Amino acid sequence: MDHFLYRDGVLHAEDVPLTEIAAEVGTPFYCYSTATLTRHFRLFDEALAGTDHLVCYAMKANSNQAVLKLMAELGAGADVVSGGEYARAVAAGFPGERIVFSGVGKTRAEMRAALEGGIRQFNLESEPEMEVLNEVALSLGKVAPVTVRVNPDVDAKTHEKIATGKSENKFGIPISRAREVYARAAALPGLEVVGIDVHIGSQLTELEPYGLAFDKVAALTAALRADGHTIRRLDLGGGLGIPYERSNSAPPLPIEYGALVKEKLGHLGCEIEIEPGRLIAGNAGILVSEVIYVKSGEGRDFLILDAAMNDLVRPAMYGAHHDIVPVIEPEPGVEPHVYDIVGPVCESGDTFAKGRKLPPVGPGDLVAFRSAGAYGATMASEYNSRPLIPEVLVKDGQFALVRARPSFEEMIARDTIPTWM
Ligand SMILES: *Cc1c(COP(=O)(O)O)cnc(C)c1O
Repeated sequence: MDHFLYRDGVLHAEDVPLTEIAAEVGTPFYCYSTATLTRHFRLFDEALAGTDHLVCYAMKANSNQAVLKLMAELGAGADVVSGGEYARAVAAGFPGERIVFSGVGKTRAEMRAALEGGIRQFNLESEPEMEVLNEVALSLGKVAPVTVRVNPDVDAKTHEKIATGKSENKFGIPISRAREVYARAAALPGLEVVGIDVHIGSQLTELEPYGLAFDKVAALTAALRADGHTIRRLDLGGGLGIPYERSNSAPPLPIEYGALVKEKLGHLGCEIEIEPGRLIAGNAGILVSEVIYVKSGEGRDFLILDAAMNDLVRPAMYGAHHDIVPVIEPEPGVEPHVYDIVGPVCESGDTFAKGRKLPPVGPGDLVAFRSAGAYGATMASEYNSRPLIPEVLVKDGQFALVRARPSFEEMIARDTIPTWM
């Protein structure tokens, strides 16, 4: 459920008509709903009620400072994957003890910043990384709390570019080698083993792969405890999928996921951490764009929008589907038209949808891409020198610009000309 609904014939974000925001900030823009973000966080928090837990929002899904501040105020932790994300999390008000650091390639500088600024745990992904973190921690006179990310070799049944839990993926260490790797971690004085980490992929639409992974984590917990390790935290990663197509069957709900976590792992007495990103932010955001032209081609009509692949790359990158709807509600019974929906970027890949049915629209009309709150703005670029588009946060009847559109001058001023020219 989200808070983008037609009211009096106009698509609203909560109580604000999108036409009003478009008139003020110009198109294209991202728009996020506070009520939806809040609701999605609470769904996870409530799904784990009764178990010691922390919901660590995976901020790579949407790392706008306003979204992060909202999450921090709701009591979420943060899952960060870079020094930049760590800095954003701290700036938004997450205390260090609620920040977990994930990612396969943490640098010494990133480790140092997190150790100095405060960190809940590092999720380690390899033995070389373990040795380096030990060195960095010792050099600062600190002990780094760590888990090791294990790769359980289960098929998440998701898009190949976002599957991470099969043995051929670059993530984690093979679960078969976990005991050996934990023995090494325990021998390093700069590290303190606190638990186990697993994350098998993104946009999972079934619970079964989680069940398989959790069984392996439960067995590993027992084995590592028998080896003398303290396993008091289980970080189960993120990945629960969202319904991108309203017409499709819905992915499992957080409450069902939470019940599975409790069933498979509840008896171990561990604190549970989860790292949802997409499910919190995805359906809490839309991308609003204006139609520039309708161009009739041979056997097809192109809807040319002012948004492009640089603003929302998921269709070009993953072949992803986004529902696209007109902002002005169509009259009942109006016959849909079939369009190829494209952006102005000079790449054939800049195609949002082919053969998509939409009520007839024309130049100047607004359309909204649904489910664009996650991996939308965070994956945007300025390809074709199209400045990053603005982001707007709505709360009830109010809206605020939470990232302004840079002017061309500001975009150009980031480059400098060498003195020899
Ligand atoms: C990307 C990622 C997540 C979040 O995944 P979602 O599918 O957005 O829930 C969580 N943990 C790790 C380690 C990740 O890389």
